[in-house]
Amino acid sequence: MCATGSASAASKWGALAKPVAHTELPAVESLRISAAGFRLKFFGGSQLMSFEKTHRSQQQTLARPALIAGRGLFHGIDVKVRLRPADPGTGIVFRRVDLKDRPEVAAHVDNVRPAARRTVLASRSGAVVETVEHLMAALAGLHIDNCLIEINSIEIPAVDGSSMPFCEAILAAGLTQQSVTRSLLSVSESQGVNDRAGEQWIEVIPAYDGHATVDYRLDYGPEAVIASQSFSVELTPDAFLRDIAAARTFVLQDEVAALQQMGFGRHLTARDLVIFDTDGSVIQNNLRWQDEPVRHKILDCIGDLALGGRLFVGRVVARRSGHKLNHVMAKTLSTIEVRRAALERAA
Ligand SMILES: [Zn+2]
Repeated sequence: MCATGSASAASKWGALAKPVAHTELPAVESLRISAAGFRLKFFGGSQLMSFEKTHRSQQQTLARPALIAGRGLFHGIDVKVRLRPADPGTGIVFRRVDLKDRPEVAAHVDNVRPAARRTVLASRSGAVVETVEHLMAALAGLHIDNCLIEINSIEIPAVDGSSMPFCEAILAAGLTQQSVTRSLLSVSESQGVNDRAGEQWIEVIPAYDGHATVDYRLDYGPEAVIASQSFSVELTPDAFLRDIAAARTFVLQDEVAALQQMGFGRHLTARDLVIFDTDGSVIQNNLRWQDEPVRHKILDCIGDLALGGRLFVGRVVARRSGHKLNHVMAKTLSTIEVRRAALERAA
């Protein structure tokens, strides 16, 4: 389900720009979605792949490692990230290979540290990994349960500000089903949190059809530079690739100076992310969709809720929710999971 019809997003923005990230595998030239699945065209070949129904029930990991390199959004440090296959039950785990003893940080909401405008994880020993949300969204969007993410610096590469380069690297590496059944987190009663006297909120409602969806309303008020926009998507890999994965980070021109003071994107130009001018136009760049901002908010939401620890069944309804509220909801989801696991043990 999507708000703007079924036209392929990939066809709207055509062949992918030369990837900012690079992998050890052939670079992906274009990605096309059809009813038969998705076709990845590499420089030098192409491959038709499809997500089978069984992917809903079996845990998945990568078939082989994938390497992604680039500079972080806030710190601008050159960094390499290697996504490695991991055993069933591992979950998503980061490993700082540049630090003594190569400490690990589980991608779990209990490891979230407060940070402005991004998601930061830290282990008890103090190993930190910053700006994980777009990579987390790629993994959750493609329904990958287990992955060891080796990183040689503090921050995940910004790539093009979206999840698509991560998806390309993962799909080029291939997915493999594992022998262990996936246990989905099923929300049995509505859970909601809000902020700013209810101006921002996020709720997860039971979905008795067994699906996961996100409905998001971006609404910064009638005078806002970005007009209000809504979007709804079912969380299947195909829909994620088609409608969400390529939506990029955006900022307002008014915010740029303050953000740069925080370190954000000092090394970036307007071509490297979406900057909205005070009149609502986009500076030196083109939108991939007219409603690209709301799609990116959904992308962030998917990445943050993945910190609950598992894929979930339920309907997420959100208005203006950002990382902070998303983390509160991820914590709520993780608590449900713990309760459910405890019930399973008792049975
Ligand atoms: Zn984001």
